[in-house]
Amino acid sequence: MDLDILGWNDFFVRGYNQYKDSGYHPGRVASQHKNIYRLLSEYGELTAKVSGKMNYEAVSISDFPAVGDWVVFSHANESEAVIHATLPRRTKFSRQVAGNMTEEQIISANIDTVFVVTALNKDFNLNRMERYLTLVWESGANPVVILNKADLCTDIEEKLSEVESITLGTPVFAISALNKNGLDKLNDYFTPGNTIALIGSSGVGKSTIVNSIIGKELLRVNDVRDDDKGRHTTSHRELFVLPQGGMIIDTPGMRELQLWGSRDSYKETYKDIEYYAKQCHFKDCHHDSEPKCAVKKAITNGKLDPRRLESYNKIQKELAYLSGRQEYLAQKEQLFKQYRTTLRKHNKKR
Ligand code: GDP
Ligand code: ZN
Repeated sequence: MDLDILGWNDFFVRGYNQYKDSGYHPGRVASQHKNIYRLLSEYGELTAKVSGKMNYEAVSISDFPAVGDWVVFSHANESEAVIHATLPRRTKFSRQVAGNMTEEQIISANIDTVFVVTALNKDFNLNRMERYLTLVWESGANPVVILNKADLCTDIEEKLSEVESITLGTPVFAISALNKNGLDKLNDYFTPGNTIALIGSSGVGKSTIVNSIIGKELLRVNDVRDDDKGRHTTSHRELFVLPQGGMIIDTPGMRELQLWGSRDSYKETYKDIEYYAKQCHFKDCHHDSEPKCAVKKAITNGKLDPRRLESYNKIQKELAYLSGRQEYLAQKEQLFKQYRTTLRKHNKKR
C-alpha cells in the first residue's frame, strides 16, 4: 500500500525522522479494539499491539494511538506488529473520558475534511450548526456543510442563504443522499491522501451518505478474531480507503462529540462578531451594557442577527469553563510525571 494514498505527507515525515534510524516503519491506525490495533502500511494490513515500553511510559490515554493516527512499528512476525510511538497529530477530535472530568480521549486523528451534516427538514438548527463548526475548527480540520434530505424541503434557497449567513465562506452543499442527488458535488474532496469524517445529529443521514460513498462492498469488511480470553469478537474497520481516492473515518465516537479545548477556533465561526468587536469602544467589551458597543450597534442596525451574539456568548462561557478544567489537567499531569520519575529513580536504586 502506497503511503501517500494513506495521507502520508511532509508533516508526518518530520515526526518520523527521529525514528528513521531505528528501523521502525510508519503505519496508519485503521481501527482499535481494546488493545488491538489494525494498521495500514507499506506491508499491507497488520494486527498490532503497543510495546511494553510505550505502555509503561504513557502518561495519559491520549498518548495511545487512535483511529487515524500515524504510528511507528516494528514487525513481530509476518502479520503482527509492535507499535512504539504515535507521531504528532496534525488534527484531532477528542472528548473527556467518561466519568473523568479532566482526561482527554482521542476519538480520531489527522482528519482533513469534516462533512458537517444536517437535515433540511426536522433537524435544521443554526445554533447547533455553529457548535459543530466550532468543534471542527477546534480540531484543526476544515468543515464542509452538507444539507441533506433536500427532497423533503420546499424552501432550499431560503435555507441555503440562512446557512451561508453563519458559515462565512465554508462550502455548503444541498443534497439528497436517499435519491443520490447532488453527491457528485462532494467529489472534489475524494482526492488521494485526504481524510474525511462526518459529524451531525443522529438521523440526519450520515450512514446513508457513507454507504453511498463507500459502497456496500467495503462496508462489509468485518473481521473476526480472538480476544484475550479466546472469545470471538467482531470489529469492523473504521478507516476506509476509497477506490475514487481519499479516506473516510467513521467511528461511533464521532457521533457524540462535545466541545473540548480552549483555542481561538470559535473566532473563525464568529468572524462577523469579531469584526464588530474590534470597533467597540472598550477593548474588553462584553457587548452587554457597555457604551459605544459596535456589536450592539450592528444588531440595532440590522447588520447582525441577535441570535448570533447569544450563541457566541454561550460558547464563550463553555470555553472558559473548559480552559479552567484543562489547567487543572495540566497540573495533574505534571504531578503524575514527577511521581513516575521519582518512582523510577527509586526502583533503580533498589
Ligand atoms: P444517521 O443517524 O445520521 O447515520 O442517519 P441515517 O443515514 O441512518 O438516516 C436516517 C434516516 O433518514 C434513514 O431512514 C434514511 O433512509 C433517511 N435518509 C437519509 N438521507 C435521506 C435523504 O436524502 N432524504 C430522505 N427523505 N431521507 C433520507
Ligand atoms: Zn461591544
